[in-house]
Amino acid sequence: MSLVVMKFGGSSVGDAERIKRVASRIVERKKEGNRCVVVVSAMGDTTDDLVELSQQIAGNTPPAREMDMLLTTGEQISVALLSMASQQLGEEAVSFTGWQAGIQTEAVHGKARIQEINPERVLKALEQEKIVVVAGFQGFTEEGEITTLGRGGSDTTAVAVAAAIKADLCEIYTDVDGIYSTDPRIVKVARKLKEISYDEMLELANLGAAVLHPRAVECAKHNKVNLVVRSSFTHNEGTQVKEEAVMEQGIVVSGIAYDKNIARISILGVPERAGQLAAVFTALANEKIDVDIIVQSGIVENQAEFSFSLSGSDVDRALAVIEGLRPTVGFRSVNSETGLVKVSIVGAGMVSTPGVAAKMFATISELGISINMVSTSEIKTSCVINGERLNEVIQALHTAYGLDTDSAVFVGGPSERR
Ligand code: ADP
Ligand code: ASP
Ligand code: MG
Repeated sequence: MSLVVMKFGGSSVGDAERIKRVASRIVERKKEGNRCVVVVSAMGDTTDDLVELSQQIAGNTPPAREMDMLLTTGEQISVALLSMASQQLGEEAVSFTGWQAGIQTEAVHGKARIQEINPERVLKALEQEKIVVVAGFQGFTEEGEITTLGRGGSDTTAVAVAAAIKADLCEIYTDVDGIYSTDPRIVKVARKLKEISYDEMLELANLGAAVLHPRAVECAKHNKVNLVVRSSFTHNEGTQVKEEAVMEQGIVVSGIAYDKNIARISILGVPERAGQLAAVFTALANEKIDVDIIVQSGIVENQAEFSFSLSGSDVDRALAVIEGLRPTVGFRSVNSETGLVKVSIVGAGMVSTPGVAAKMFATISELGISINMVSTSEIKTSCVINGERLNEVIQALHTAYGLDTDSAVFVGGPSERR
């Protein structure tokens, strides 16, 4: 008998019919002789709708604690309904909130990390032959406050629970039937990967591939969780995420990811003095503003110039912080640009193959698009570019790296949320 964690995302439980279908999938898995823990996200667009509702009341900066209180209700609805649907099929099932499932997090609202899981109640219910349905995306702090794990965080709940109960397998059921060489909703001839290494998937997830939450991959790698991404609509074989993945011959780049909503801020005429960079980036860090690529250009007449990329949602706050530094740092001017995207290529084979980044730059420039910023590591290269022709760029890179398959892929269920 195997112990399996099955996670279903929002689009898989978008309405009553789908919840019933997911329930029969779970019951089927149980009848195959498995013990099942199910992690589920809020139905369809629920989380987005709740965010919008909060904005109508509290604008763009709602109180973080109340936001977590609000958003966690979404998952509470789906666990209750999924447990009911499983019971309708004659199985014993029980739903748990994050707190009831013992998911303890750090005391940070909006993007808390899981610190430990006490799976006592989950294990007890499993012993009683019950299907255990756990609310994704939520936890509680030592002080008993409710927290959320960041958007897309139900994947992380699933993997962390799988690690805590030493599950044999963690299956992420979603609206595509595996991990592809790039988002199959953008590139119709994207290639489905049979397997991918934790490291490559971690890069792809960090660089924006929504199919898995980055911390879920991190947690799977750390705890060696046997992780599979597959479709909740079909029985197609999915993609395995594992320590060492076998690379297809001749494939150097295994995936292409993108991150929309990127912005650039440039600070010009910064008097050359030790500690200037530190002053700016410490001030931004103190305001919990994540900065991504940083570029400092040469010093001319004792003045430096630097630019950095960040999330488009943080630009106004970042500009305010920088303005506050004008008297101490003494820069000449600051400017910003929004509507940018970051496109990245990822592949473990890049490190030993020359010319991979050069091909990326050439492919983008052949489209007549200029590259604003670049960052590289052993297994990835990222370019920040104007976002208007993103799909075209991804398609061109996909072809350039020999990733196109001959036929269009079958992608699975409808995507209501895009
Ligand atoms: P869920 O609600 O099940 O968590 P998500 O929307 O978070 O689903 O993730 C699935 C989506 O991820 C797919 O519909 C697809 O558009 C997107 N995606 C982005 N990159 C990839 C990729 N490389 N492979 C598969 N899907 C991807
Ligand atoms: N419901 C949450 C979200 O929409 C968590 C998740 O779907 O993983 O971000
Ligand atoms: Mg998701």
